[in-house]
Amino acid sequence: TVSIFWFRRDLRLDDNAGLYYALKGGHPVLPLFIFDTEILNQLEDREDARVTFIYQTIEALNNELREQQSSSILIKYNSTGQAWNEVLAEYDIAAVYTNHDYEPYARHRDAELKELFTQKNIEFYTYKDQVIFEKGEVVKDDQKPYTVFTPYKRKWYDKLKPFYLKPYPTRKYLDNISKTSPFQLPTLKSMGFAESKTHFPDKQYKTIIAGYHEQRDFPAIKGTSHIGLHLRFGTVSIRQLATDAYGAEEKTWLNELIWREFYMMILYHFPQTADHAFKPEYDRIRWRNNETEFKAWCEGKTGYPLVDAGMRELNATGYMHNRVRMVVASFLSKHLLIDWRWGERYFARKLLDYEMASNVGGWQWAAGSGTDAAPYFRVFNPELQLKKFDPKLQYVKKWVPEYADFSKYPEPIVDHAFARERCLKVFKEALSKS
Ligand code: FAD
Repeated sequence: TVSIFWFRRDLRLDDNAGLYYALKGGHPVLPLFIFDTEILNQLEDREDARVTFIYQTIEALNNELREQQSSSILIKYNSTGQAWNEVLAEYDIAAVYTNHDYEPYARHRDAELKELFTQKNIEFYTYKDQVIFEKGEVVKDDQKPYTVFTPYKRKWYDKLKPFYLKPYPTRKYLDNISKTSPFQLPTLKSMGFAESKTHFPDKQYKTIIAGYHEQRDFPAIKGTSHIGLHLRFGTVSIRQLATDAYGAEEKTWLNELIWREFYMMILYHFPQTADHAFKPEYDRIRWRNNETEFKAWCEGKTGYPLVDAGMRELNATGYMHNRVRMVVASFLSKHLLIDWRWGERYFARKLLDYEMASNVGGWQWAAGSGTDAAPYFRVFNPELQLKKFDPKLQYVKKWVPEYADFSKYPEPIVDHAFARERCLKVFKEALSKS
């Protein structure tokens, strides 16, 4: 009899809540990872860098377990339902352990599996791991979820005790992993993917914390951590990050980690916001949705240098600086009046650190339809943003080299003053109907 620990977006052996409880559960633990075909088949890019990242991470974990514990991760490549049918047929299982995932697809999947496990008398234990506070832990005094960030943040700090930051000493119990002969790791090619040559950011974040409040807004310098990818797949522990951030004198970076939890909490309580405006009246906006303009935006050919630089950085690296994400998102939804969901989906395809909760939150913020939104009448001026945040044009010159040669750089796709007026008119029309 074994217990299963199911790795999902927590791909590490250190300080892993679910793995810790599995190891202490009294049965040898068989680790499992499923390459879920329902997710993989939806990816358009057969060289999707995130698939390569997951693959290489699993491979490294597997090698470590093999060398140190003579064990290995059971890998399935199938729909989750099919994969579990196989696992249940192959093993005598006492319990399944895993960590919470708050996205709508994952919640639905886990609810179905819980039923299946219950029918088979298998315990299903799940844990908070990817956030300091989840679901209903930071709520208003009347137990309702916060929908505004600042009071949420205040309550988050009030609630914080050393207990919540304590690491789970997972490695101490790794001997309780079941000894197995190595399982076969299917090749990326056999799953229909090719290895991406994308450079993955490392896990260094400590050096940026102190200067973060002064440097975070300038895309030409590396003033932010680039840790998002590691948070997405759990190759770092949020407890470790929050401990370091809390211990630092400068708390701005910690506040960003709290934004991440705020958006996860919002998506948990308002799952409909994954593809609907948080403020429902914003679903009435009559988007222009011009496909040619959308293509120009995607390719970084709008004639607005900061927008174009951002989109080209995204296309080339899978990353875009936060300040520039705000500018390109505002430009798409307000200047071009293209549905924010088109932009959200494009980011979902391209961002290494794609996180549904933060992406939807960021896009709705930019479009004005979200929780703490920028009001709709505030329309970023991309030229002013450029002057403020890339005054020496270092970022623009890196990504849009032809900008220096005016004859080669396109005219703006739309005039700023005209676009601003058009946006105000269309938004006002939608919002005045209520
Ligand atoms: P740092 O500035 O070093 O921050 C550290 C970590 O804090 C980030 O990795 C992230 O986990 C979290 N964080 C920082 N800022 C925010 C924020 N505003 N909201 C939520 N979490 C934050 N973030 C994502 O992780 N995934 C997304 O898909 C995503 N899409 C976005 C889309 C738009 C339109 C906008 C405006 C923002 C989006 N963000 C997203 C938030 C933010 O831009 C990124 O988290 C940040 O740029 C990642 O870079 P970094 O790792 O260097 O962050």
